[in-house]
Amino acid sequence: MSLAFRACCALALVVVGCRSTPSSGTAPAPGGSAISDSAQVAQDIATLADDRFEGRRTGTPGNDSAAAWLSRRYAALTLQPPPGAPCGAGCANGYLRPFAAREPRRNAAPLLRETRNVVGIIRGTDPVLRDEYVVIGAHFDHLGRSTEGALDPAAGDAIRNGADDNASGSAAILALAKRLRQKPTKRSVLVVHFSGEEQGLLGSAAFVETTPIPLSRMVAMLNFDMVGRMRDDKVIVYGLATAAEMRAVLDSAAAGLRLNVSQVPDGTGPSDHSSFYLKDLPVLHFFTDVHPDYHRATDDFPAINVAGAVRVVDLAERALRTIADRPARLTFTKAPSTQRAAAGPGNGAYFGSIPDMGAADDTGMRLSGVSPGGPAEKAGLKAGDLIVEFGGRAVKNIYDYTDAIGASRPGDVVAVVVVRGPSNERLTISVTLGRRGG
Ligand SMILES: [Zn+2]
Repeated sequence: MSLAFRACCALALVVVGCRSTPSSGTAPAPGGSAISDSAQVAQDIATLADDRFEGRRTGTPGNDSAAAWLSRRYAALTLQPPPGAPCGAGCANGYLRPFAAREPRRNAAPLLRETRNVVGIIRGTDPVLRDEYVVIGAHFDHLGRSTEGALDPAAGDAIRNGADDNASGSAAILALAKRLRQKPTKRSVLVVHFSGEEQGLLGSAAFVETTPIPLSRMVAMLNFDMVGRMRDDKVIVYGLATAAEMRAVLDSAAAGLRLNVSQVPDGTGPSDHSSFYLKDLPVLHFFTDVHPDYHRATDDFPAINVAGAVRVVDLAERALRTIADRPARLTFTKAPSTQRAAAGPGNGAYFGSIPDMGAADDTGMRLSGVSPGGPAEKAGLKAGDLIVEFGGRAVKNIYDYTDAIGASRPGDVVAVVVVRGPSNERLTISVTLGRRGG
């Protein structure tokens, strides 16, 4: 697809957006269309996973068109644009929040891609509590026609539509937003579709650094990533240990839903809730587990369990209403890290770092956190540290770090050189490596 096409696309959007009435000409009803949730969820997943969006890869016209389509959905749901938006409610452009996705590359400068998160607000009903926000989020980007991150490289430049990853989560939060528009909670709700997730949570990393609402007024974040392939009534919910009250919230939410809910303590994991947890916010991640089509060109709409996705929305809606209507905020707690990285390349050495994927401009590997109880934490490394040397090897980016840890063994004592704080203090820290998965 040509650059010229992209330019003409953008122009068309601006015109339509500002008119604020949908093409049907009727004023949008709070909560949008009258069709059933499952019909709407099916329609939204089928639309986002359609070839016309070409798998929605960050920085491509397909991703931009998907963002435009989502913002029109927000307008139809009469969500409010965030503070500082270029135009008011119902105006599609008001929901788009551009950011530059910086993707680190091996032996090359980071790749810069202009893209957008989509953000809207459902105002709460309580005169005091509505100044606090629960965030509901899902990434809408996927792999596009690229083999980067794909598990079926042999399929070449086939379109990877990501019906489950993550058209399903994107549709789930639209369904939840519709219900909340029809029956708002006491606290307000921030609805966010992230781009840049497949390149390393870049959209949520950018969002938490430039939030339209102060982080201090956010009380929790609910993330929906891959909720479209439920089997055996099973749903996995991460984040159990990120707030003292979270087990009670989840147990009461699940009561009577005949779901097989497995609650996992972790606050971090390979999706956007991690960016919020690392800002000390309670989080939940709803997930119906991996499947053989994950990150392949076969992750298409026909395999989606729409009824299962709606059941995830039912569970999440209950949890959200408990969190958003309770008098007191949840009590944030640091969660253990139980999901060790699967055995990958190297000798199984474990370090326990959480790289800041949004900091691709640094020379070194910036940490956005350390895994609780891991070797790095035990040795005293912390969020914000910039690793510049590992076991005698220079580290210029995440790839150098991966090579260095890959060459180490469990039990090795390695010297890690970090640059810390505003004074750029250089520290050498001795770390005893653990065993991955151990
Ligand atoms: Zn995903």
